[in-house]
Amino acid sequence: LGGPELGPQHRIRVCVRKRPLNPREAGLQDFDVVTVPCRGLVVVHEARQRLDLSRYLESQTFRFDHAFDESAPNELVYRHTAQPLVESIFRGGMATCFAYGQTGSGKTHTMVGDLSAKGQGCPKGIYTLAAQDVFCWLQEPSYKQLELQVYGAFFEIYGGKVYDLLNWRNRLKVLEDGKQQIQVVGLQEEEVSCVEDVMKLIEMGNRCRTSGQTSANTHSSRSHAIFQMILRKRGKLHGKFSLIDLAGNERGADTGSADRRTRLEGAEINKSLLALKECIRALGRNKAHTPFRASKLTQVLRDSFIGENSCTCMIATISPGMRSCEHTLNTLRYANRVKEL
Ligand code: ADP
Ligand code: MG
Repeated sequence: LGGPELGPQHRIRVCVRKRPLNPREAGLQDFDVVTVPCRGLVVVHEARQRLDLSRYLESQTFRFDHAFDESAPNELVYRHTAQPLVESIFRGGMATCFAYGQTGSGKTHTMVGDLSAKGQGCPKGIYTLAAQDVFCWLQEPSYKQLELQVYGAFFEIYGGKVYDLLNWRNRLKVLEDGKQQIQVVGLQEEEVSCVEDVMKLIEMGNRCRTSGQTSANTHSSRSHAIFQMILRKRGKLHGKFSLIDLAGNERGADTGSADRRTRLEGAEINKSLLALKECIRALGRNKAHTPFRASKLTQVLRDSFIGENSCTCMIATISPGMRSCEHTLNTLRYANRVKEL
């Protein structure tokens, strides 16, 4: 019956996904400096200069649970990252999947898919792929008898404040009660009964996320978007899967900006990504103390970082170009630290 007991470190998976060099980068004479020689390995060939100014490439190798090269479609990435976690929420678990990386490295492509490309050829993102599997598991006889209801919620954290993406960016308060229970007060939960329902929510939330913004990319690069599939049994929380498209990790560097607002937002992003790393590390080491209060992001995800039934997967997305090399190395170092015991 069942498999061997899994140690806490098995609750964390860290994977890396490299996107293809795009035509704009190719046009700027940028070139691919990242290779994925085999499953799990990523090599960055960093350009260095000798004293005589001649150039050479220095390689740095990183190992992860899985590494995907530019040929991997979303379905393959999904199969090795979020998919193994879906069933756990039917057994009362709390699962999370994060896309972490530089702006433009493929976080939204991975999580949401390509929204601009409507119709047949449009690649589905992990949000939709996970929703499909949730409805499959729901039909499994042993889970069917639980008579669970499925709900979707979608919100973002921008500048340390929480906004409901299913309710016109209504500002939400986060409260902690005496028993350390965290509540996002008034968060809209929509009942969903099929994948199409979920896709409508995702579309609605995304429209809400980007509407009224002068530049969609600037805004989304500065906010964390959190999509949740929630299972309830007669109203009571049973399990939850949180799928998160994080703010661009290069925004942490905005702390040196001349603009006050940009600086504050950068500091907030920095703080939340550091807190996230520490919370995941605590989960992997079965630590009694999880520093979830250090940021709004980790606060609202508190339940997912504690308890035996929590598991998480991080997908670090990287750009292949030489010009992105510094950011790519930062992303890989962060992802490495998450898993380090
Ligand atoms: P981010 O959300 O990290 O800022 P995006 O997901 O918006 O980045 O990706 C930037 C661009 O690169 C988009 O046009 C996207 O379609 C493209 N892209 C990203 N990842 C891939 C991939 N694996 N294959 C093909 N195109 C990709
Ligand atoms: Mg994005």
